[in-house]
Amino acid sequence: MTTVQATALEASLLELIRVTSTVLPDDVVRVIESASQQEDQGSNARYALDVICSNIGLAKDKSQPLCQDTGSILFFVHVPVGYDQLAFQDATIAAVREATARGYLRQNSVDSVTGGNTGDNIGPGSPNIHFHQWRRDYVEVRMMLKGGGCENVGDQFALPHPKLGGRDMAGVENAILQAVLGAQGKGCGPGILGVCIGGDRASGYAESKEQLLRTMDDTNPDPLLAELEERIVSKANKSGIGPMGFGGATTLLGCKIGKLNRLPASFYVSVSYMCWAFRRQGVDLNPEGEVVRWLY
Ligand code: SF4
Repeated sequence: MTTVQATALEASLLELIRVTSTVLPDDVVRVIESASQQEDQGSNARYALDVICSNIGLAKDKSQPLCQDTGSILFFVHVPVGYDQLAFQDATIAAVREATARGYLRQNSVDSVTGGNTGDNIGPGSPNIHFHQWRRDYVEVRMMLKGGGCENVGDQFALPHPKLGGRDMAGVENAILQAVLGAQGKGCGPGILGVCIGGDRASGYAESKEQLLRTMDDTNPDPLLAELEERIVSKANKSGIGPMGFGGATTLLGCKIGKLNRLPASFYVSVSYMCWAFRRQGVDLNPEGEVVRWLY
């Protein structure tokens, strides 16, 4: 990668971070606005969603972070065969440093042993970059900022489970709903679930997060999972938990479920809970490192 390309790439990534932190994607905004209209006028749920809508508008207009917690910094990157991933990593680190200095990201990365804040969001595991190679000739970068409060209420279940059931779809459904009940309003709901059925403990959680890269209005290509997604949202929204736990009809805005093969001896259901501040964006980059398309 030439110096000119590296400079352009860093600028593109900086803009991707700014937009992700300050502008909620249209597909997410649409479901939040629609949920607000469905809550009763004068209810706490309607009030909470209206405040969220105002927050979304203000953050975009002022180019300021949607939430004080700018979250874990996650990148999901597809690169052509032979692409210099180390140069991409360097550009990403530089962009994250600059985004932190400009206030697009809070100083949010803490040494887990000493408790010291690195001050620039750089350290082991931050930013977290997942590389995948593909045979296309361009780079695709998707990013997500995942808040700590909603990460705290994610959950992982091993089936069979004495209260949730066996290694079947009934057990899976109960496990996912248990995660919603466990979260109550603590994950800054209404939430969006990313779920993985199967895998091991690490791959299950990783896949559950990648499910959150799907758009809110897509349909799962697996008809069984598509039905399960609908049923989870419908049942969760009858729980009465509501936005921020204030009660109401909107506990979940969506649920995205994937699956990985598992060992005969284990059956995990991994649930990543995303808060209303569902910050994800993506870009396609040309070989010069410039943005040619926004993905959401
Ligand atoms: S969970 Fe989400 S909305 Fe709540 S404080 Fe964290 S980032 Fe903000």
